[in-house]
Amino acid sequence: MLLLTPGPVQTRPETRAAMAVDIAPWDRDFGVEYIAIRERVRDLAGGVAGVHATLPLQGAGHFMVEAALRTFVPAGGRILVPCNGAYAERIIRLAREAGRNPVPMPVPDTRRVRGDEVAAALAADPTISHVGMVYSETGSGIINDPAEVGAAVRAAGRRLIVDAVSAFGALPFDLKAQPECDAVLFTSNKCIEGLPGIGFAICPMERARERAGKAGSWCFDLGDVLLHAERSGWGSFRFTPPVQALHAFGVAMDLYVAEGGQKARLARYTENMRVLRAGVERLGLRPYLDAAHQGPIILTLHQPDSPGFTLQGFVDALKRRGVLISNFFTTKTPTIRIGCIGAVTPDDMRGAVAAMGEVLAEMGVAPRVAA
Ligand SMILES: *Cc1c(COP(=O)(O)O)cnc(C)c1O
Repeated sequence: MLLLTPGPVQTRPETRAAMAVDIAPWDRDFGVEYIAIRERVRDLAGGVAGVHATLPLQGAGHFMVEAALRTFVPAGGRILVPCNGAYAERIIRLAREAGRNPVPMPVPDTRRVRGDEVAAALAADPTISHVGMVYSETGSGIINDPAEVGAAVRAAGRRLIVDAVSAFGALPFDLKAQPECDAVLFTSNKCIEGLPGIGFAICPMERARERAGKAGSWCFDLGDVLLHAERSGWGSFRFTPPVQALHAFGVAMDLYVAEGGQKARLARYTENMRVLRAGVERLGLRPYLDAAHQGPIILTLHQPDSPGFTLQGFVDALKRRGVLISNFFTTKTPTIRIGCIGAVTPDDMRGAVAAMGEVLAEMGVAPRVAA
């Protein structure tokens, strides 16, 4: 089966095979492996040894976002959330339920968030301490720019939290150039192409240390993750980790480096997107974003306005041809979402486009000439 879902993604056989072992997380040999993963992740984020640290947590990306909000935004504090998609709305919900005060800043979901509008919102409200942003909006496929937004946050003397879950590893990020950033977040199962199970926050250590104990949750306290590492060693865990997923993540990192790292991964995903987008346009499907705003991570398409079409029917018929896409959408109007990330190639995309053509014909959706 070819997974064209924006997480969990298609993985390489070597990565999956690494899961098939029993490991004790407190074993000394595994501790060495875990320390190496933390250092590699920090370096990949543009972090600096002794200044920044990788603070992992068991679980999904939402857990990382909640942990960062609880750790860095003071209880009752205000966080501006520029909102151009479903994942920004999730930051808002997580902040509210954690007893923080999200300040939504609506932005159309067909373009990126601009630094000048963030600057204006911060200037208008000095009580806002933080900005929470999504790097790659997996809702629509829009890419926001953390360097641009971060510059506005820095100039206003506020702090930044970046949900980079569907971006990290493919799109560039440089923590040392963004001293306003409290946390950049991602998980094992998106652009690094590992298995699901663990999330990562890369944070300035000084900030995490001073915020320890203030999260209102032991589990979600990234400051406590840091204090534990400093007390018990960087190879140690507070609670039982998904140790096989971590081990496989190490293999996925090796494959990532062997491929050529961030630039090579971005190039492959960009080509996946180019082939897919051109192919589905030839089939008469209409992208949700215009070409200038299309990111390389996820392609969102308007569902065909045809009586024969249902999303579940389309997904099921594609699955019979060996291609699996999401059976849900998060845009306000009905869409189809197709991931371009994971261990997939432009040739896989050509095959997927051919399968989609067959399915549309089977469903009686007439091909149209693309506008
Ligand atoms: C996938 C994703 C998440 C996290 O999803 P989980 O299912 O909790 O792992 C968060 N933010 C963005 C932008 C994502 O794409």
